Amino acid sequence: MMFSMKIQAPKGTFDILPYGTEAPWLLSALWQHVEKVARDVATQYGYQEIRTPLYESTELFNRGVGETSDIVTKEMFTFQDKGGRSISLRPEGTASVMRSVIENHLFDRGPVHKFFYIGPMFRYERPQSGRYRQHHQFGTEAIGIAAPQQDVETIDLLLEFYRRIGLKSLKVLINTVGDAASRASFRAALLQFLTPHLEELSSDSKLRFEKNPLRILDSKDPKDKEIIASAPSILDHLSPEAKEHFSSVCHSLDTLQIPYEVDPRIVRGLDYYNKTVFEIVSTDLGSQGTVGAGGRYDGLLKTFGGPDLPSIGFGTGLERVLQVLTAQTKTLPQHTPPLLYFIPLGEEARTECLRQATACRHAEIAVDIELSTQKLQTALQNATKTNARFAAILGSDELAKQEVQLKELISRKTETIPLNQLLSFLKTK
Ligand code: ATP
Ligand code: MG
Repeated sequence: MMFSMKIQAPKGTFDILPYGTEAPWLLSALWQHVEKVARDVATQYGYQEIRTPLYESTELFNRGVGETSDIVTKEMFTFQDKGGRSISLRPEGTASVMRSVIENHLFDRGPVHKFFYIGPMFRYERPQSGRYRQHHQFGTEAIGIAAPQQDVETIDLLLEFYRRIGLKSLKVLINTVGDAASRASFRAALLQFLTPHLEELSSDSKLRFEKNPLRILDSKDPKDKEIIASAPSILDHLSPEAKEHFSSVCHSLDTLQIPYEVDPRIVRGLDYYNKTVFEIVSTDLGSQGTVGAGGRYDGLLKTFGGPDLPSIGFGTGLERVLQVLTAQTKTLPQHTPPLLYFIPLGEEARTECLRQATACRHAEIAVDIELSTQKLQTALQNATKTNARFAAILGSDELAKQEVQLKELISRKTETIPLNQLLSFLKTK
């Protein structure tokens, strides 16, 4: 095919390949492994998979993520479809899950639903290490459970996922953003504190000052951060109920012996959080240090017209997870190699090897077959590249005798076995 110019992947996106990638975290074997661990962990914690569309009505995210969030104001991929509807690629998973449970009448079956999802999310951000325009999240949603122990189950699930894939030196930061009464009281104190600094705030934060001053605590602007350092703490404005919930969360974390730090600056970038919020950070990620984050959003379902049920969940970015993992460990999961590599020499041998390979594959044994060369040396090199354990060489002599030369590629030991015994031999391996 001829291209008049080289077409590249869109800015901030990447390919995940079986080999030939510039970075080890882009190897598909790694992604398969991590996704499998995510599925296993979530399942063992009582969560079931949900898959929602990659795009939704823009309105869903405006309402669900919040009109003052960075995601909605700056980061959404929004376009009009041919029918004139405003559509956005999903920037996160929670809003879609809430829409789906309502739309599919799942509450007819009861108030409690625990779901997990794995898939791509889209945010129009300035691409940099750990920050892309398409990234992937593993996330959970536990709907219908108000108990603080649920918050801790959620945190522990996420930590268990990290533990199983082998991430080390992570830190759990938690905070509470209280309930509506706590936030109203804190908001007043925060506004009073920020008013004398209003002119020094970044333009984003000036806007947030009007619309949602709590968001200012989440600012990444260095000057904002400096000002925020001495801001009042929400922990001093908690209602008795919010205080009780938070201390119960801390108590359960202690019981499970999960180390954590209370960080009153954590408010999260999405508008819908209340009570518990948390982030898991790694020191091995540089500036994009958050590998996973989540919290409670008890009012969210109701804003979509659903029942007034509490929810809690997390989202963890798989790119960041894999970047930490590949920075910390050199022994990474590999693709499963074929058990045997057929090397036919000659036209008739090719057909016979294809017949044999097909029988193996139908018996669920992974084999491959050399159909690109008749040169034994090249074929053996190709076999070695696949990391197959055996090569089966079939030339016209072997064919005449209905035998095959079986070579163990590492030991280089060769034996001759009858063709009709090959499959049963492989079944024992
Ligand atoms: P950040 O503060 O780094 O922008 P966020 O608060 O926007 O993160 P969330 O919306 O909570 O992040 O998303 C959950 C997780 O998804 C993050 O902790 C991170 O691991 C990952 N993530 C978010 N945005 C991106 C992105 N643009 N590229 C890669 N991973 C991302
Ligand atoms: Mg962000």
